[in-house]
Amino acid sequence: MVTRFKSVVIAALLLVCAPLARAEWIGSEEAIMGTAIRVELWHADRRAGEAAAAAVMAEMHRIDRLMSPFKRDSELSRINREAVKGPVIISKELYSLVSRSLDFSRQTRGAFDITFSSVGYLYDYQRQTKPSEREITEALPNIDYRHIVLDPARRTIRFARSGVRIDLGGIAKGYAVDRGIAVLKQRGVTHALVSAGGDSYVLGDHRGRPWMIAVRDPRERAQAVAVLPLTDRAISTSGDYERYFEADGQRYHHIINPRTGRSASDVRSVTIIGPETTTTDALSTGVFVLGVERGLAVVDSMPGIEAIIVDAQGRVHRSSGLAPPDGESG
Ligand code: AMP
Ligand code: MG
Repeated sequence: MVTRFKSVVIAALLLVCAPLARAEWIGSEEAIMGTAIRVELWHADRRAGEAAAAAVMAEMHRIDRLMSPFKRDSELSRINREAVKGPVIISKELYSLVSRSLDFSRQTRGAFDITFSSVGYLYDYQRQTKPSEREITEALPNIDYRHIVLDPARRTIRFARSGVRIDLGGIAKGYAVDRGIAVLKQRGVTHALVSAGGDSYVLGDHRGRPWMIAVRDPRERAQAVAVLPLTDRAISTSGDYERYFEADGQRYHHIINPRTGRSASDVRSVTIIGPETTTTDALSTGVFVLGVERGLAVVDSMPGIEAIIVDAQGRVHRSSGLAPPDGESG
């Protein structure tokens, strides 16, 4: 699972600079939601710190049980079985995450779309299997977030068309990170990092300095395209190197363009920085589909959101709030 721990590498060097403090930094890692979950936190009381890290992991397991498309008894699986037949009453938590997903669909003009799964479920990146042309053509009309009908008064979801499926894989990890941070705050933790694969939040600073978060090069794992000093910020990276296989000279990866039912191919990675991880997660996936120009236009229209995009040629593009001064190259 550690091999899936990607994109965001924590520069642990800072720990070396604070030898007196080292005893109170607590680290924990577990494989949940098909990815590596990592918690690092500062606590004066080691036992209380370890309990806080365990509480974050418990919260991640809870969210996985609720939202996994691979668990038959998850609420998400029940929705996929029943919402084609009529309105299904769902939990407040899932209702609000689906509702937020629809907001992101509107903001990205359909690039982020949880109904991608209507075609997306036909890909298996581990077995290296993909749908035929015909299967894609037949299932493609089922991708459209407007097929999802929510009723806030009754808290129900319904699919307006048979063949529609949803999958929260592009937003659930970010949501889980935000929930993990909320759990830590409730316990009085003020310095922490929680990450789920490519989605992270850094709470407070790293005891006197910002956290240094490296964005990896999408083709050279050990190299960074940027290192960002961050405090109280969310950062998410979506990359074409996370889950993929190659066949007939093409890379089939896990981010699907809802218009084509195929992997989006304009860029190699998108990193989004923002105030909370649910947002940065959804936007990293959506901007990946939009590509450099349309993606940066969306990002620059959103206050407090920044982006670093590595395009298909390996060139690095930044949103206006991160762009280096004139004359300096990216
Ligand atoms: P991320 O690593 O955050 O970009 O998430 C990738 C995951 O998002 C995939 O594994 C799918 O579960 C899901 N996904 C793929 N394409 C889309 C899309 N166009 N809109 C929303 N979610 C998607
Ligand atoms: Mg995402």
